[in-house]
Amino acid sequence: MGTVLEGKSIYSGISIGKILFYGKNRGEVSRDRTCDPEAEIKRYEKAKSVAIDQLQELYKKAVKEVGEINARIFEVHSMMLEDDDYNDSVRHIIENQKVNAEYAVSATGENFSEMFSQMEDEYFRARAADIKDISQRLISILEEREHGEQIKEACIVMAEELAPSETVQMDKKHLLGFVTKLGSSNSHTAILARTMNIPALVGVKISEKYNGKMAVLDGFTGKLIVEPDAELLEKYRKQMAEEQRKKEMLLKYKGRETINRQGKKIKLYANIGGISDLASVINNDAEGIGLFRSEFLYLESEDYPSEEVQFQAYKQVAETMAGKKVIIRTLDIGADKKVGYFGLKDEENPAMGYRAIRICLTREDIFKTQLRAILRAAAYGNIAVMYPMIISVSEVKRIKSIVEDVEKQLEAENIECGKVEQGIMIETPAAAIISDRLAGEVDFFSIGTNDLTQYTLAIDRQNPELDDFYDAKHEALMRLIKTTVDNGHKAGIWVGICGELGADLSLTDAFMDMGVDELSVSPSKVLAVREAVINGN
Ligand code: PEP
Ligand code: MG
Repeated sequence: MGTVLEGKSIYSGISIGKILFYGKNRGEVSRDRTCDPEAEIKRYEKAKSVAIDQLQELYKKAVKEVGEINARIFEVHSMMLEDDDYNDSVRHIIENQKVNAEYAVSATGENFSEMFSQMEDEYFRARAADIKDISQRLISILEEREHGEQIKEACIVMAEELAPSETVQMDKKHLLGFVTKLGSSNSHTAILARTMNIPALVGVKISEKYNGKMAVLDGFTGKLIVEPDAELLEKYRKQMAEEQRKKEMLLKYKGRETINRQGKKIKLYANIGGISDLASVINNDAEGIGLFRSEFLYLESEDYPSEEVQFQAYKQVAETMAGKKVIIRTLDIGADKKVGYFGLKDEENPAMGYRAIRICLTREDIFKTQLRAILRAAAYGNIAVMYPMIISVSEVKRIKSIVEDVEKQLEAENIECGKVEQGIMIETPAAAIISDRLAGEVDFFSIGTNDLTQYTLAIDRQNPELDDFYDAKHEALMRLIKTTVDNGHKAGIWVGICGELGADLSLTDAFMDMGVDELSVSPSKVLAVREAVINGN
């Protein structure tokens, strides 16, 4: 069977090939005394400007290969190279310790990445790898050698950690996949792997002893099988061929209209958590964004994101989608999504507690800031807004009056803004049951089946021990969906599904029969859903 190494999959798929143990170039940097620190500082400044040139080239390459959004990391690297604290630390070490520039960069890189890796915020922790990357680049330039290794034949790369620049520099036609010991699914490298469509695992017990050995990388089950036996290899070859066939078949659906067998055009949108998912939305040919989980902006911040920060993010998404619909779901914080600076109290039942619209309606300052940003961004694209966790008509009325206030305020301040469609998420049984009353108040419904299932079946969606009871196709749920669609249509509004169930191909026919107008699924599922809508399942 071979040696099986387990890891966490960050992108599915299968590849078979030789392992290349990567990272032999990263040797120890020697600490040499110098009697001319000025000359070392000059060497450092020169290396820095070469690094910035290299990053500009890399940026251009990455734009072509993985899209502008993902390429931005190289702009971030350039900015990091200009960071005062980083530069002061390097100069200080050279001057004070009278040592070589390589050593000063290496020590600064270690210190700064250590500092980032201790931070509470996951986003900043992930930046530790970027600091190491820029430091390694500077050292390579100072030592006059290539940054990163070139891979010359098809291989599965095994490494302690991969920096985004290393991943992009690798020749894509040779890169079959990668497995690393470190790295989070939030890191840019993980995002790049997803965009490059290659299987990848993190958290694997790597070892140089596997270098050059044949292996199967199974991104579906999160396994790397080193030296598999002939039988297993054959099984995987067949699975790979099948996957390939499916993928190629799905490519036919790029650029096609999503028209179901009843002849009705379905809106096939994608769900995103942030700007970094946009490349995947475009690559998979989604027709819009049906759920932008805006809370990512809050989760990534140390404090409430300002109107300006939010405006820039929403504007960027709207502009990138170039006129296609972008539905921004207002802040859905609370329950499992905790943010320290909100100062939320511990609750007995957080899923049924102070969360989402309940926070927005009691802390209007936060809500109004977000609405201002959304309305302003609406001047740059086709933005709609929807509200989570609704249970009553009075809530919707209250929201609409707050939106009106914000509109008036922006007008009075002479600030440009656009009109937005307003919808609500149907994710509580209460909302589904009174959807006839709610329908008259809004422009659309988007059914959040993840929460609707949890509240309808009284099953905590966070508790893995209840998985066997979590019947997403429960008749009660299907009836609530049908009721919502019927009530929406009676009032002349469209109804979509943005929960995970929307991508369940075994239900696509049932949803089409119910008359669902929109499906919003994760970007990688778009083409498979389009196929199922067009052909039935
Ligand atoms: C849902 O509840 O189905 C939904 C789409 O929202 P979230 O998963 O973000 O709670
Ligand atoms: Mg929800």
